[in-house]
Amino acid sequence: MRLLPEKYRLLIWISLLLVAGFLTTSVISYVVSRDAIRQRVAEQALPLTSDNIYSEIQKDILRPVFISSLMANDTFLRDWMLAGETDVNQIARYLKQVKEKYGTISSFLVSEPTHRYYYGDGLLKTVSEKEERDVWYYRVRDMKADYETNVDIDMANRDAMTIFINHRVVDYDGNFLGATGVGLTLDTMAGLLDSYQTRFHRTIYFVDKSGAIKLTGKSMRDKQDAHGTILNMPGVSTVAKQILGNKSTTPTRLEYKRDHATILMSSRFIPELDWYLLVEQDLADDVLPLQRMLYINIAVSAIVTLLILGMVLFIVRRSHEQMETIAGTDTLTGLLNRQAFEMVFHQAILDSERRGSPLCAVLFDIDYFKMVNDNYGHLAGDRILQEIATIARKSVRENDIVARWGGEEFLVLLKDCPLQQAIAIAEKLRGTIANHDFALRGGDILLTASLGIAEYARNESSADFFTRADRALYQAKEKGRNRIAVSQS
Ligand code: GH3
Ligand code: MG
Ligand code: MG
Repeated sequence: MRLLPEKYRLLIWISLLLVAGFLTTSVISYVVSRDAIRQRVAEQALPLTSDNIYSEIQKDILRPVFISSLMANDTFLRDWMLAGETDVNQIARYLKQVKEKYGTISSFLVSEPTHRYYYGDGLLKTVSEKEERDVWYYRVRDMKADYETNVDIDMANRDAMTIFINHRVVDYDGNFLGATGVGLTLDTMAGLLDSYQTRFHRTIYFVDKSGAIKLTGKSMRDKQDAHGTILNMPGVSTVAKQILGNKSTTPTRLEYKRDHATILMSSRFIPELDWYLLVEQDLADDVLPLQRMLYINIAVSAIVTLLILGMVLFIVRRSHEQMETIAGTDTLTGLLNRQAFEMVFHQAILDSERRGSPLCAVLFDIDYFKMVNDNYGHLAGDRILQEIATIARKSVRENDIVARWGGEEFLVLLKDCPLQQAIAIAEKLRGTIANHDFALRGGDILLTASLGIAEYARNESSADFFTRADRALYQAKEKGRNRIAVSQS
């Protein structure tokens, strides 16, 4: 079956339109969904996590602050100090009771007049300005606020976070008397961080004002050991300045790249701890199902495109054939087609019968035409068929009929032509084809044709007449091609 370039052009346009349409809708829906997920995570999920953790912290801190405040305002404690701190057992008993009653890990009192440090078992030591471990006391002495929180992380103890409340104690006239308070373990914190990690693939960590990582969930442990500070942590370091330069207590949205992945981050300052709370999420896991959907969409689109192309090809071919039949001409060569020829053939026989004039048929077929197609392609084959049609047309009179019988077979009807003249015409046609330069590049293929000739015999049916021409053609092929053969009636 011939394939005209126009048909290809139509198919190419249809495929281009389909592919462009399918691709745009698939890609647009992918991008839109991805951006929606991204926005939801950045604007809702991360700040919400941050809020939850913050309120958990506030809740946990409130209790020790309350206990410390009770202690600092306790008249017994103040009176005992103002009375000269005589009976150590009394204050030890007091501190021990606070510790047991509230389940704190420590309770303490430091006196300004004597610089003594008391705890549940009595006198521990005296604080000194030179001692590094005691600097907190001098800080508390000079501060304006009633209390401060001081956080300590016990990494050995499942990352238990211990928070110390250092509360100022003043006498009834407001003069500084010392500091008291409790230390409490926030067991819930580490568990909270881990649960967010496993449930939502979110990483949560705290850093201090210098960027040093203070507390993380289990999964962050390695990074923490390796880097210690966000200043040299891959990716995060690019936004470290933004994090540490912003003391806003409402979540701030940040974004950075790590190993080509985009990480969304929410950062906020927690004044109670003097730390930053960082919550981050890698979008890769959320976007993965979307990517899978994109590939499925593209695959389905490809299949639909192929199906539509197949259908269009089928319809175009069929309508082409139908048009040819209706038009009566062969679209490639412009000659009469078989259907149209059969009617003309019949008419010519009737004419010949009526007038008693001779009628000859020359059926010819190109030799080894399959090789031309194989070596030079179908389009070159088509071009040669067109040239041969032109040669055939020129070789006969205007009145004669030339038809494309099928493939590379042609039928010439010579009216009013005796056999001898038909043989001459056929021989001339054979010579012209054999000598014609078909401009087949680089080829040594000699294009020839074999011809079968028959003269119409009275009362013969058109089918018999044609069959004799066909047999003659077969003989010409048999005898070695590039020759003519005549049917003897
Ligand atoms: P033979 O000498 O026995 O006739 O050999 P051949 O190769 O010419 O004969 P065969 O019948 O085996 O092959 C005919 C070839 O003609 C095969 C077919 O692809 C080709 N053909 C038929 N119609 C067309 C057409 O419209 N265009 C082109 N390019 N080729 C056609
Ligand atoms: Mg052939
Ligand atoms: Mg053939």
